[in-house]
Amino acid sequence: MASTMLRLLASSVRIAERAAEVVRDIMHSGDLGIIDKGGQRNLQTKADRAVEKLIRASIVSQFPKLTVIGEEDEKLDASADVKAGVDPSVLEKECALYNDVPEEKIVVWVDPLDGTAEFTEGLLDHVTILIGIAVDGKAVGGVINQPFFNYQNGKSNLGRTIWGLVGLGAFGWNRTEPPPGRKILITTRSHSNELVNLCLESMSPDKVLRQGGAGNKALRVLEGEADAYVFASPGCKKWDTCAPEAILLAIGGDLTDVHGNKICYDYNVKFPNTGGVIATYRNHQEILDKIPQVVRDKLIA
Ligand code: AMP
Ligand code: MG
Ligand code: MG
Repeated sequence: MASTMLRLLASSVRIAERAAEVVRDIMHSGDLGIIDKGGQRNLQTKADRAVEKLIRASIVSQFPKLTVIGEEDEKLDASADVKAGVDPSVLEKECALYNDVPEEKIVVWVDPLDGTAEFTEGLLDHVTILIGIAVDGKAVGGVINQPFFNYQNGKSNLGRTIWGLVGLGAFGWNRTEPPPGRKILITTRSHSNELVNLCLESMSPDKVLRQGGAGNKALRVLEGEADAYVFASPGCKKWDTCAPEAILLAIGGDLTDVHGNKICYDYNVKFPNTGGVIATYRNHQEILDKIPQVVRDKLIA
């Protein structure tokens, strides 16, 4: 039988696909049920709430001994539809690395809807569903579902799922390495501040792209549109970075804070990534070296 890790990933892929249907249905209903959680563009919609319930209930029903931490802190809903199934293409893979990892050691970080501000503005390709899997505080597995992929090119098959496991690889998109020597940076569009901008300007980029969602920005890096995701702010949380980090690591990329420290995903850590976020496909250290000291001094790890 496949390891707990592969079974969890195979379930998470299907759960994220089921969650994507829920997100599309809520979008099409036209009633997003927006709540302002306070702070800077910190919104929640019906989709954030419904998807968190669905993902939490689905994972817990199959893997009752692991820990699930989600952004929206929705209570476990015993009546939720938990029959998403498993993705056979994940179960087919072989990876002996995780055979000995028991359920109790796994922490799952869930961002039911990443890029909520953009979702409410109709920038639908910025929206993702993130399921990150951590063991011993390290991001090892991840699922990024993009529910509205293809929505602008008229194709009928909306949505896609990207997933990865460190030591096995990552799947679900056409991998394009960024060209060497280029420096296109990607950052927030709705959570900017002086430090975020100062950091970007002092790195002398060829170009700065501003888009929503941590998952979406990681995808821009994975697809070679940007060379680095640079966010000199404590605004991102562990559920924003766990899945992207695991997928980047699985293909030889990296995600750290601005000091180059790994992010810890233990069940008892504080949620904010207080040291900021830097994610790259290649040449991580070169990007880190360009971060000015004044920025590093302001982001305490
Ligand atoms: P963004 O790149 O602005 O889409 O942010 C990526 C993720 O971090 C999203 O889930 C945001 O909600 C979260 N985030 C970033 N900055 C903040 C902030 N200042 N307040 C609340 N959430 C934030
Ligand atoms: Mg998020
Ligand atoms: Mg969210």
